[in-house]
Amino acid sequence: MNHIMTVFNQKGGVGKTTTVVNLSAALALLGKKVLVIDIDPQANTTSGLGLDKLAEKSIYGVIKGSKKPQEVIQHTKIENLDIIGSHGDVAGLEMDLAIEGNWQYRLKDALENCPGYDYILIDSPPSLGILSLMGLIASKEILLPIQCEYYALEGVGQLFNTIQLVKENYNKDLDLNGVVMTMYDGRTNLSTQVVENVKDYFSTMVYQTTIPRNIKLAEAPSYGQDIFTYAPKSAGAKAYESLAREMVKGEAKK
Ligand code: ATP
Ligand code: MG
Repeated sequence: MNHIMTVFNQKGGVGKTTTVVNLSAALALLGKKVLVIDIDPQANTTSGLGLDKLAEKSIYGVIKGSKKPQEVIQHTKIENLDIIGSHGDVAGLEMDLAIEGNWQYRLKDALENCPGYDYILIDSPPSLGILSLMGLIASKEILLPIQCEYYALEGVGQLFNTIQLVKENYNKDLDLNGVVMTMYDGRTNLSTQVVENVKDYFSTMVYQTTIPRNIKLAEAPSYGQDIFTYAPKSAGAKAYESLAREMVKGEAKK
């Protein structure tokens, strides 16, 4: 059985895209076959993995029903890592779909036509709109990145309401895979405190691996590179490799 996982938090800038890019690369380097789906019109995952933001190769046509996933899947430079990219046009999808209706299962149906992947990772925009909902409906799991900052848990209640609504109405299989703490700064009490608060709240669902604040992780996307290509010895690379190993190991226990 494959994993279909949305990396989701409706808060902006918490490290969703950085996590999708580098966790997918790490899983692929561990030999897993990975497909990334970028449904964020910002398309930062697409460019972060070194691909151009091409309208004709984006998720847009798949959701509109004019393209099959196989027509738009692109290989990245990393073996075992493929992507269906995004493009600015995807921003218009939300309005189109709201008018057309009947959008709920379009991504789910498309992913059912993508066999052979061990992991499908979806990068969502920072909102609780139609695009994110489509991602949640298509997924079996949610990986929740939480930034080590003062308002870390803000919006988590709302997030759980949404998950509950999705479960009750569209996708009873949806579950939390885990929580990953991002942009951890060991020099500050704040980071330590936030991790403790989040562990109080989510208990064992929090990954032991925390992702440190690491400048190399912030620089890599401007070269269209994942962290293993850009700075394989960096603390960021070590952290994402460790997260991938923990995820795969947790899987063996399930
Ligand atoms: P959005 O909600 O806009 O999609 P996001 O949740 O996808 O944002 P990212 O784009 O991954 O968040 O990260 C936000 C910013 O923080 C980016 O500039 C990114 O390079 C930087 N960043 C993310 N994680 C780290 C880290 N561990 N260390 C340093 N910088 C980071
Ligand atoms: Mg993002």
